[in-house]
Amino acid sequence: MDDADAYASVLGPCGDNMEMWLEARNGMVKNVTFWTDGCSATIACGSMATELAKGKTLGEALAISADVIAISLGGLTGKVEQEAIMEIRLTTLSENTAGMGDFLAEWGLSILVEVDGMRILMDTGLSSSAVHNARVMGIDLSTIDRIVLSHGHTDHTGGLRDVLKIKGKVEVIAHPDVWASKYTRRNGQEEEQYIGIPFSREELESRGARFNLSKKPVRISEHVMTTGEIPMLSEYEAVENNLFVKRDGALRQDPLADDLALVIDAEFGLVVITGCAHRGIVNTLRLAQGITGREQVYAAIGGTHLLRASEERIEKTMADLREIGIRRLGPSHCTGFHASAWLALEFEDAFFVNNAGTRLTLP
Ligand SMILES: [Zn+2]
Ligand SMILES: [Zn+2]
Repeated sequence: MDDADAYASVLGPCGDNMEMWLEARNGMVKNVTFWTDGCSATIACGSMATELAKGKTLGEALAISADVIAISLGGLTGKVEQEAIMEIRLTTLSENTAGMGDFLAEWGLSILVEVDGMRILMDTGLSSSAVHNARVMGIDLSTIDRIVLSHGHTDHTGGLRDVLKIKGKVEVIAHPDVWASKYTRRNGQEEEQYIGIPFSREELESRGARFNLSKKPVRISEHVMTTGEIPMLSEYEAVENNLFVKRDGALRQDPLADDLALVIDAEFGLVVITGCAHRGIVNTLRLAQGITGREQVYAAIGGTHLLRASEERIEKTMADLREIGIRRLGPSHCTGFHASAWLALEFEDAFFVNNAGTRLTLP
C-alpha cells in the first residue's frame, strides 16, 4: 500500500514474516493489506485478519485476537463431519482448441463442474461455443445451479447471455471488479481494445442473472468454494502489463483483482479450476491450500497464463508445482503451446490436454 497510515511487521516463532499496512479514515479501518513469506496457514490467517479488520473501528480491529481468526477460518473450511465426495465430473465446454467431435473452438474457456449433486458452470467462453458444444455433448444447460466467473475478460464472459437464454434465473458468483472497464493493446497497437464483459449488467439481470459479487471466498456446496481475491505472494508471478482498466477516461494497469478460481476440497486432495490465473497459478494454488487448510493438491485444470512467460518463470512455476505435489495437470487456454510443451515433458503422465470436449471423472 503506497499511502498507508500504519505499518507493522512481526517475525513469528516458526520463522514466518508477516507485514501489514493499514489505511484509516475517521477512526475506521478503510483498508488493510498484508504480505508474508510464510506457509499456506499463515497466508490464510493474514487474509482472514485483513478481511475481519476492514470496516471496523480502530478499537474493534485491535480486539481481533488469534482465537477469533482461528474460529473464522474454521467456519470457512467447515471441516467438521465432512462427507466423502463420490466423484467429480469435469466437462470442458469451450477452449482455444477442440477435441475429436463436432465441437467448436474459440479463444476462451468454459468448464462444467459436477460435484455434491450440483452443476456449476465456471466461465462461459467467448461467444457461442459453450452452448454449441454442450448441445453436441447432450448437456442441458437449463439444469445448471450456479455460474462462477473467473474474471471479467470477454473470453470468459462473452457466452453468458446465451447461457442465460437457456437457464433463466441463476446466481452468478464473481469478484466486484468483474465489472471494471477492461482494455488491452494488442501487438503494439495505438488504439486500446475493450475486453471486458460485453453486456450491460441490466441486460444480464433482466435475463435472470443474480450477481453475488464478493472479494472473499464464497462457499457453493459442502466441498466447493471460490478462492476470492488472490494475494500476489510469489516473487516471480505478475499480472501482464498490457492489461488496463479505464477510469475517468484514463488507462491504468489492471491489477486483475477479480481473478479467482474454483476449489473442490475432496478427500483425495484439492481440485482447483482456474480461468486465466492472471494472478499466478502458484499464488492461486497456495491460496486454495490456505483457505481449506489442506496441503495436498490433487489437480489443477484451466488457464495458467504462461502464454508469454519467460523461461525463468516457467521453470520456477514447474518447480513450485512439483513441490506442491500436484498429481493431475490439465492446463488450457492461455497456458500457450510453449509452456504446455514444457509442462507435458516435466509432468509426463500427470499432464493431459484439456480442450473443448474433454470429459474427466476424478479421482
Ligand atoms: Zn483474462
Ligand atoms: Zn482468458
